[in-house]
Amino acid sequence: MILIINCGSSSLKYQLYTPDLAQVVASGMIAKIGEPEGYIDHFVGHRGEHHRCPVPNHRAAFALMMEYLQSPEYHVIECPRAITAIGHRAVHGGSVFFGSVLVDDAVMKALHECASYAPLHNPCNIIGIEEAQRMFPGTPNVVVFDTAFHQTIPARAHMYALPYELTQEHGIRRYGFHGTSCRYVSQRAADLLNRPIESLSMVVCHLGNGVTMDAVKGGQSIDTSIGFGTFGGVPMGTRAGDFDPAIIFHLVKDRGMSLEEVEEICYKKSGLLGLSGLSNDMREVSEAAAKGNARCQLAVDVFVYHIRKTIGAYAAAMGGLDALVFTAGIGENSAEIRAKVCEGLGFLGVEIDPRANEIARKGHPNISAISARAATLVVPTDEEKMIAIDTVQLTMAQPGAASVQMGHAPSTHGVAAS
Ligand code: AMP
Repeated sequence: MILIINCGSSSLKYQLYTPDLAQVVASGMIAKIGEPEGYIDHFVGHRGEHHRCPVPNHRAAFALMMEYLQSPEYHVIECPRAITAIGHRAVHGGSVFFGSVLVDDAVMKALHECASYAPLHNPCNIIGIEEAQRMFPGTPNVVVFDTAFHQTIPARAHMYALPYELTQEHGIRRYGFHGTSCRYVSQRAADLLNRPIESLSMVVCHLGNGVTMDAVKGGQSIDTSIGFGTFGGVPMGTRAGDFDPAIIFHLVKDRGMSLEEVEEICYKKSGLLGLSGLSNDMREVSEAAAKGNARCQLAVDVFVYHIRKTIGAYAAAMGGLDALVFTAGIGENSAEIRAKVCEGLGFLGVEIDPRANEIARKGHPNISAISARAATLVVPTDEEKMIAIDTVQLTMAQPGAASVQMGHAPSTHGVAAS
């Protein structure tokens, strides 16, 4: 079986697949690591269990996952040898990693060197790999990077117009995030359209608590909205997205704020939360907007405007648009936001069928109107599945590898990709 580990800054998600990736055997999430109110959600088939227990750190979380996977109550695995390969998500691969890799000493060294780019995430990813090596000796580990998909972005799009030497010396460039999601979703979209991905120009709208817009031309990312850190682009749940850096100088130099205060504002108090004053959750914000809350309406309007503007920019960058693809929490679930984003995009050939848009989640991914020249699709993301596919492909000698399909594994529950 194939085990997928996703160590976030305060969580550990796992999925266990059959070797052909046709089925998720077990899955779960350990959350609030390091906090008193930690818990595990563990799922096997249609059975699920929620158990509260403080989990002091990621190593303890890994041990807890092992306990549940080996628990005689669930009969998931009898011994560690049942796992033939392990795939890991890593947030930042710097400019070193262009794709997924089998873990060896050199990879671990390079991973440590990239840690400063994502100080909240990469160290946790590294612990996940170290624990897997310790608990499953001899089993191959594969690491899949969120940034790798965006390494194809050409210099004209990934360079910032700062002094060249400075950018080279300090590794400053647009790295992009959510690459694993964008890669999965763009491949699925091509499959659903029954067209070779090489022939398509797509804009992927990964609209979740974090937001990535991605221009995917011929299957390669050629521009993306998030930049050097996890901050730029379209406004997000609590992150501001792009704004003039002069605002930071003004707040620090002229208004006496500390850099830490401004950083906290930009990352944690901005976006939907900052504009609405109510919530970072799009459900709450759009409900309040519908009831007449003007600031919530403003938050929705700003969010939608930046997405629509970016779609236009990326269509220009690609020289056309064949498909617009919505994914992640808001993109998959909010017919209202999809409709608002698509309003006025007729000049690009985007037209949606309102009824199809309403039922998109129920197995009707194509929400385009018959007259549309560009397809609009709603494609659930599945980062774990993408990691599993890479894991099997890089460990080809493993049984079952040859029959891996790109299709959506029937997940037995709703552990969301972050
Ligand atoms: P993610 O980060 O992908 O889990 O997405 C989280 C975001 O999805 C939050 O802003 C949620 O409010 C939003 N979301 C989830 N379901 C819905 C829905 N039915 N309508 C609008 N937003 C939703």
